[in-house]
Amino acid sequence: MDLQATLDRISREVRPLLSEGQVAAYIPELAKVPREQFAMAVTTLDGQVYRTGCADQPFSIQSISKLFAVTRAFQLHGDDLWKRMGREPSGTPFNSLVQLEYERGKPRNPLINAGALVVTDILCGSFDPVEAEVVAFMRRLCGNESISYDVDVAQSELATAARNRALANLIKSFGNLDHPTETVIRAYVRQCAIAMSAVDLSRAICFLAHRGTQPFTGEVILDGSSARRLSALMLTCGTYDAAGDFAYRVGLPAKSGVGGGIVAHVPGEMGICVWSPGLSESGNSLAGWRALELFTTYTSRSIF
Ligand code: GLU
Repeated sequence: MDLQATLDRISREVRPLLSEGQVAAYIPELAKVPREQFAMAVTTLDGQVYRTGCADQPFSIQSISKLFAVTRAFQLHGDDLWKRMGREPSGTPFNSLVQLEYERGKPRNPLINAGALVVTDILCGSFDPVEAEVVAFMRRLCGNESISYDVDVAQSELATAARNRALANLIKSFGNLDHPTETVIRAYVRQCAIAMSAVDLSRAICFLAHRGTQPFTGEVILDGSSARRLSALMLTCGTYDAAGDFAYRVGLPAKSGVGGGIVAHVPGEMGICVWSPGLSESGNSLAGWRALELFTTYTSRSIF
């Protein structure tokens, strides 16, 4: 299989989609990102990197950070995590409040905002500041010391985070948030504002494709069973309210963010990241989703 030729073909084929979709505008700083951009990177477990488009350009990873934050929390607390959040798809938008009220402050899963806020709260018990720990973790995973969070994006979200504050306060009212709401929110928006390239992320995700051990450094991030379990969460909860359709069309564990990035992996083979800022109605990158669908079709890859 010629991966480079496959990526180049995909890049050509998704081009008509780049003028469709909407850039996330509820975070004012993200609304400034030009829509017609596309990047795709694949890192194989033997360290080969294939790329197309602006694959070295950092973008706002947003909710993709939730996957790495929960990995860190899972490392520290294992199954105790599930006392404070569930492992079920929510079936509601990523920032929905309704379900949280019914379910008495216990978020459905760690990959929606409510669950990620609880994960941040858990990490606040071990690290100060949490965002520095998540940044350090990302740097280690992809071997890029220059990774950081974008101060302007973080500030922009902090100034408009009324809904996330509402979620955090509701969770706190049910006794499921230990730290002050504002401490958790500040760490959360900074973690979401981490900027990374498609190449960085395709490398960072490889530990999940490699039974929990980062293949390039040999660092054991998770044991094999935990890595498989997190991948299962990605499949069922990682692409907002469209995880069923994503499993149907793409067939890989993945996590998306409103910055337009999607990370995915092929177990035993490779880490993948796509980026294109125009989002579909489900909040997933329009061209990125299509690129992954074409990739698994052309390469006959799927976990099924
Ligand atoms: N920082 C964003 C928020 O909390 C992340 C959302 C996302 O990427 O899904 O609204």
